[in-house]
Amino acid sequence: AQAAVDAGRLDSARTADGQRIAVLLNIAAPEDLAGLDPAICDGIGLVRTEFLFEASQGLPDEDAQYAVYRRILDWAEGRPVTIRTLDAGGDKPIAGLTIDSERNPFLGLRGIRLSLARPDVFRVQLRALCRAAVHGALKVMLPMIAVPSELDRASALLDAEFTALRAEGIACARPPLGIMVEVPAAALRAEAFGAAFYSIGSNDLTQYTMAAARDIGAVADLNDTGNPAVLALISRTVEAGRKRGVEVSLCGDAAADTRLTAALIATGLTTLSVSPIAVARLKAAIAKVRS
Ligand code: PEP
Ligand code: MG
Repeated sequence: AQAAVDAGRLDSARTADGQRIAVLLNIAAPEDLAGLDPAICDGIGLVRTEFLFEASQGLPDEDAQYAVYRRILDWAEGRPVTIRTLDAGGDKPIAGLTIDSERNPFLGLRGIRLSLARPDVFRVQLRALCRAAVHGALKVMLPMIAVPSELDRASALLDAEFTALRAEGIACARPPLGIMVEVPAAALRAEAFGAAFYSIGSNDLTQYTMAAARDIGAVADLNDTGNPAVLALISRTVEAGRKRGVEVSLCGDAAADTRLTAALIATGLTTLSVSPIAVARLKAAIAKVRS
């Protein structure tokens, strides 16, 4: 047990061949960081922001969001922090925001689709993120991107909110904007997106590639990120990132599945993002990988 704790405290992870692998954290709320030393990780690879919209009575206002984002950036002490814009819908219904009557919410108005349909809600989050960006190395990522125009529209909204804040004399910065690659259409042509980075969401990428829902036990065997078809899409995304000179990470549950660590590193991935509880186990698994 002590060895596991020690492994979790190392600042960096290396394979048996000495290749450095960045290990980032996934969190679903700032409380997930309580009692954790930021030195166990290389930053935060995924902040899910749905909790903000679930907990509050009505939608959270700009100041409430800003306070939470800032708290997470302060915790990271300058390490990169990737905050994902609201990913409502699919397996994450939000009362008053998502559509209850969808027959197949995984293929419906979820993630970036909903944010673009509700610019009144999206703009508030973008403003809070621009304000938080002055307090650390913030990156912003968009969930469920399928086509480049979604990124372009979100980018234009981000620019507009940043410009408006500056005109109001409010401290702000324009964070780099990246995309989740979790729809096969995005993985297949990742180089067509002008994203500042790619983060592979293997939970959704696997369910959409295998046509096996992430939450239906009867098809759990098919919902396998280790399937060569899914690994091929991951490799393709890594290759697109290399060509474009932008970072590619993977933040789905597969990053914490140590049976897949060697296969994921073999795709060329050098950044994995997992929940805090999985950090020590992942670092130990990385140390055993030989290419
Ligand atoms: C994913 O789809 O792999 C992912 C990280 O996002 P979420 O699990 O929140 O859909
Ligand atoms: Mg997802």
